[in-house]
Amino acid sequence: MIERTAFYIGGAWVSPSAGTRAEVIDPSTEERFAVISLGGQADTDAAVAAARAAQPGWAATSKAERMDLLKRILQLYKARAEDMAQAISREMGAPIDLARSAQVGAGAWNIKGFIHALEVFDFDRPLGPHAPDDRILMDPAGVIGMITPWNWPMNQITLKVIPALATGCAMVLKPSEIAPLSAMVFAEILHEAGVPPGVFNLVNGDGAGVGTQLSAHPGLDMISFTGSTRAGIAISKAAADTLKRVHLELGGKGANLIFADADDKAVKRGVLHCFNNSGQSCNAPTRMLVERSAYDDAVETARALAEKMQVGPADRAGRHMGPVVSAAQFEKIEALIQAGLDEGARLVAGGPGRPEGFNRGWFVRPTVFADVTNDMTIAREEIFGPALSILPFDTEEDAIAIANDTEYGLTNYVQSEDGARRNRVARALRSGMVEMNGMSRAAGSPFGGVKRSGNGREGGLWGLEEFCEVKAVSGWHAEEPCKTHGHGARDCC
Ligand code: NAD
Repeated sequence: MIERTAFYIGGAWVSPSAGTRAEVIDPSTEERFAVISLGGQADTDAAVAAARAAQPGWAATSKAERMDLLKRILQLYKARAEDMAQAISREMGAPIDLARSAQVGAGAWNIKGFIHALEVFDFDRPLGPHAPDDRILMDPAGVIGMITPWNWPMNQITLKVIPALATGCAMVLKPSEIAPLSAMVFAEILHEAGVPPGVFNLVNGDGAGVGTQLSAHPGLDMISFTGSTRAGIAISKAAADTLKRVHLELGGKGANLIFADADDKAVKRGVLHCFNNSGQSCNAPTRMLVERSAYDDAVETARALAEKMQVGPADRAGRHMGPVVSAAQFEKIEALIQAGLDEGARLVAGGPGRPEGFNRGWFVRPTVFADVTNDMTIAREEIFGPALSILPFDTEEDAIAIANDTEYGLTNYVQSEDGARRNRVARALRSGMVEMNGMSRAAGSPFGGVKRSGNGREGGLWGLEEFCEVKAVSGWHAEEPCKTHGHGARDCC
């Protein structure tokens, strides 16, 4: 049994003052394999106090110092890649090869992306040629509370911690209590890289405890949250009395618009993307909208792929699908699959119950429903499991209307060989992101949603700006720019 009951506060691992013990469960076996602590108010207060004390010193560092730190973090992150993959795979059930590649890889990709963004980020900007005496200063947003989920743990943690470090913010991270071990490996990496004491703090806890305490805390200037829309609303309410900034990355119900002229891999791509990470991705294309003339073929392709898909434990090598994360998620997914049947969707693959050969572990059958209508529960609610809904459409307008008829607005997808149509549809979709013809967004592209998928953006220059306050200054005295780089004083060495 792994014992990780300490919190990282003020640059050291300390025993909780108010913690209760909690078990971490292996989703492949349903066995507990680690013990952590869930903190209480005194632990949250201690972490916030440490961050507040460290904030002014960290805000005063130069961009060059912070850049060096980010580079050391990247190096150490790569060196600890296997520890990280093992922790992620065990705690949230990603098959080990997926954990090594996509899960750990996402963290490295984000750190690299922020290093590039920081290189060109101006903390000190002219307002414009019309106003030579005005200056715009990008100040650190202050002390940040961060609350993250379990589904892509290093992706989500690096999208918050790295830009906060880069912009001169101190922080308190509360990772998911379901997947806390990878976050503790990350804390060790930050410690070894030389993050000054108090700049980064980690307190484990649940939503009702540390999550709510951080949201309401008067000592924090901002909360950055990734997780469910339900929790995002609760956090916004808890934060309201202190008027802190609340940055939310929430759920999704992405539509994948497949036109009859799409390339012949479009359906396969969409199905595999939906089932990736056992369907536990906020940007999963879970509603496949297919033009009627291509519909029957698409349903058949999806059926064949789902039936061929192997399911297996997280510690087995290979490209199979792992379990979902927990008993609660398993039950929620099973109930939604049942709702699909009850409301008259046509089940073409999978269905309720564990896959054949499994009597334990949170394994779900790769499930495909056809003839789904957009008012059915499975088309409206985020399932967060391996369940795809296929809906037919007749015209472009029809497809856009169905895609936009959702409370969410994170990522939509378009598949068509007609470039003019792709652009037209991308403009008409109400979402923070649109990915077309299987091309993923490039490094530096902002991630985030609209409507009940959240506000704000993570990654790249937008992800740095998210952790800044804009200060407008007039009567600015022109300074000599840095001789090496030509930037303003705070921007440079
Ligand atoms: P969750 O909302 O239950 O938990 C996420 C985090 O919030 C955890 O750390 C949890 O302890 C904490 N939390 C829960 N209730 C809270 C409360 N009332 N106050 C403060 N903190 C609280 O979500 P989850 O089940 O861990 O993650 C899955 C959800 O996250 C899905 O809805 C998914 O779409 C979403 N998600 C969104 C993105 C994105 O960038 N848009 C990325 C990944 C996951």
